[in-house]
Amino acid sequence: MMRLELERRSCPICGKRHRSRRFAPSRISIEALDRLAFASRKMPEYMHWQLFECHDCDLLYADPAPRPDDLAMLYRDADFDSGLEARFASRTYGRFLSRIVPRLPDTNIAVDIGTGDGAFLVELLATGFEDVVGIEPSSAPIEAAAPSTRPLIRQDIFRGDSFAPESLSLITCFQTIEHLADPLTFCRDAWRTLKPGGALFLIGHNRRAISARLLGRNSPIFDIEHLQLFSPTSLRRLLNTSGFARTEISVVYNRYPVRYWVQLFPFSKALKKWLLRFLKQNRIGEFVIPLPAGNIAAIAYKGSDIVVRQPSDVQILHTSYEP
Ligand SMILES: [Zn+2]
Repeated sequence: MMRLELERRSCPICGKRHRSRRFAPSRISIEALDRLAFASRKMPEYMHWQLFECHDCDLLYADPAPRPDDLAMLYRDADFDSGLEARFASRTYGRFLSRIVPRLPDTNIAVDIGTGDGAFLVELLATGFEDVVGIEPSSAPIEAAAPSTRPLIRQDIFRGDSFAPESLSLITCFQTIEHLADPLTFCRDAWRTLKPGGALFLIGHNRRAISARLLGRNSPIFDIEHLQLFSPTSLRRLLNTSGFARTEISVVYNRYPVRYWVQLFPFSKALKKWLLRFLKQNRIGEFVIPLPAGNIAAIAYKGSDIVVRQPSDVQILHTSYEP
């Protein structure tokens, strides 16, 4: 029997607690926690940990939160049911590659962290990367991967020693940064593994997006799986603190079919059912339209003019930071 233990956290970017105030009490029932700990197949919805807001970093973070080892165990057994969504999302995110790739030192190797069924690996290969690797901790999405993609995926989590220092041209990581117990160490490890001039391309939820403001705490971004929620300011601060020389933040226009937008939208159950039935009867439901769904993209480049002699000694190279 697994017991979920919680531990205290401070702001995952600046490491301080005294600049934070409580944003929301936890919305978790004991029964739901039991289900989470024992069954762990499907994460409960409309629940979140107690949240604090760091005023210096503009970040929301869970405190207390489950221990990283327990989280790893929960994710290993999590279900995967979003194959179609992953394909549409990959195409949306793939549109950024035409902007990123010409600025990279080369297209030797790209790594996609939290790759799921490896849908984005197909986009990376199509862009011209010679070698692509996907990292994914859960078994279910790897089993769901296409036979040609599966050999490219390693069942693992990304660590500082997963790849040689300064060996990667591009690291991508989508809808994952919110789930990490220590996003700062993750970004520093990514920085260390990238070649000079290489880039880290992140996509996450924007807590300052209009959709998040309108829905308040009923927004799906308030989720038991999310240990922090970023804004453009906090994402930039995370990446600059990790050593990246230049960070570009932009709003993501997700391209999904109309019927998928209807599923995502917080319509009443009855209206949603009626709309989906209506869309099934004609082709409107299949039209693909771009809308801002509350996601932000960050593309952070590792300075190419910096010589690092002792990577382990270097914590912060650039402290400059534009709010
Ligand atoms: Zn902070």
